[in-house]
Amino acid sequence: MHWAGASLRFQEHEFKTRTVYGDIPGANLLDWPITLADLEPFYDLAEKKMGVTRTNGIPGLPGNNNFKVLYNGATRAGYKMVSTGPMAINSEPRDGRTHCYQRGFCFQGCRTGAKWSTLYTEIPKALATGKCELRAKAQVVRIEHDARGRVSGVLYYDGEGNLQRQRARAVCVAANAIESARLLLLSASPMFPKGLANSSGQVGRNYMRHLTASVYATFPHKVEMFKGTTMAGIVEDEARLDPKRGFVGGYHMETISLGLPFYAAFLNPGAWGRDFTRALDQYAYTAGMWIVGEDMPRETNRVTLNDAVKDAYGLPVPNVHYDDHPNDVAMREHAFQRGAAVYEAAGAKEVYRVPPYPSTHNLGTCRMSEKPRDGVCNKFGQTHDIANLFISDGSQFTTGGAENPTLTIVALAIRQSRYIADQMKQGAI
Ligand code: SF4
Repeated sequence: MHWAGASLRFQEHEFKTRTVYGDIPGANLLDWPITLADLEPFYDLAEKKMGVTRTNGIPGLPGNNNFKVLYNGATRAGYKMVSTGPMAINSEPRDGRTHCYQRGFCFQGCRTGAKWSTLYTEIPKALATGKCELRAKAQVVRIEHDARGRVSGVLYYDGEGNLQRQRARAVCVAANAIESARLLLLSASPMFPKGLANSSGQVGRNYMRHLTASVYATFPHKVEMFKGTTMAGIVEDEARLDPKRGFVGGYHMETISLGLPFYAAFLNPGAWGRDFTRALDQYAYTAGMWIVGEDMPRETNRVTLNDAVKDAYGLPVPNVHYDDHPNDVAMREHAFQRGAAVYEAAGAKEVYRVPPYPSTHNLGTCRMSEKPRDGVCNKFGQTHDIANLFISDGSQFTTGGAENPTLTIVALAIRQSRYIADQMKQGAI
């Protein structure tokens, strides 16, 4: 619901970071067990399903004012790959949904249904097949297994707060990287004392959230960045591999506009004082960009259970620990400088560097690996330890890439679903 719609494919080298970047001290880099070529047919299917602009003959979105400022500054600063991006937002009516009305605030959910969202695109289609049942407001609290160590079902609280058991032939976990890892850890048993699928000790580790930072700038004339699509504006030049910049990996600059409360909560200079109120007074004259770059996976950046704090069901809440790697710090500094250069080239009066939001693209806590000792699941998201337990969300990312992850999550899910169907047909699960 809350995503912006940016749908970029990973680059080839981003599947092979350990090989291409080398041994970066303090980073737990690992090559994915798949390549771009493996995923390309599924990217094709995902783009078609999601109606990604600039693919399958779908025209790009028009540029709003925030894009025009970014475009003018970026092209004057020498960037070449600047467009309204590949977006999973209808630029024309498609798939029974209308086109984007450019009303803005896409992060709140798209009022017209122009933006692809599982809530009103995939789930209704699945329900219409008669083969899918949706149990809303349910929360799974434990995955159960049998005496052979195969998962056998889940325990969940239904919408009325009653504990229910659902038996299952296979379980796919897709609760986002923090809750997916938490659920595996919460499901520890005498047979799996460290949690399910955790013989490697990697469940919860290598938590990534992308580099993230923002640059905002004020201009003499009104920009009204909030009018129109939030993120239809992408500069791709800095996403290249070029260690001469002082870091490995790359980043994208993408237009962003936040509603005033969200904007005020994170703005730097923040919280109070004349500098803060002056910046807020300039809201209508402000343009914004978000930096999304590849952060380093680290074993110590991890999700663990906090036994001292319990949720509504009496279960330990997740603790999330994250420290920047020096590579992340170097990349962010570069991105801040280049972002400022873009807006200065467009005639900015003032430029604000805004540090990362605390949580963005949660990735990597149940990563794919060739060898079971290095990760949690194989190249199909099937856990190394338990053949009928699958990781189906961004938790399975081995590394994060410099791209917004949803398109890759969808491509992996399509690929995984075919594998599961095949495995079931063969009677392997
Ligand atoms: S601007 Fe965003 S929220 Fe509004 S119609 Fe377009 S995609 Fe939907």
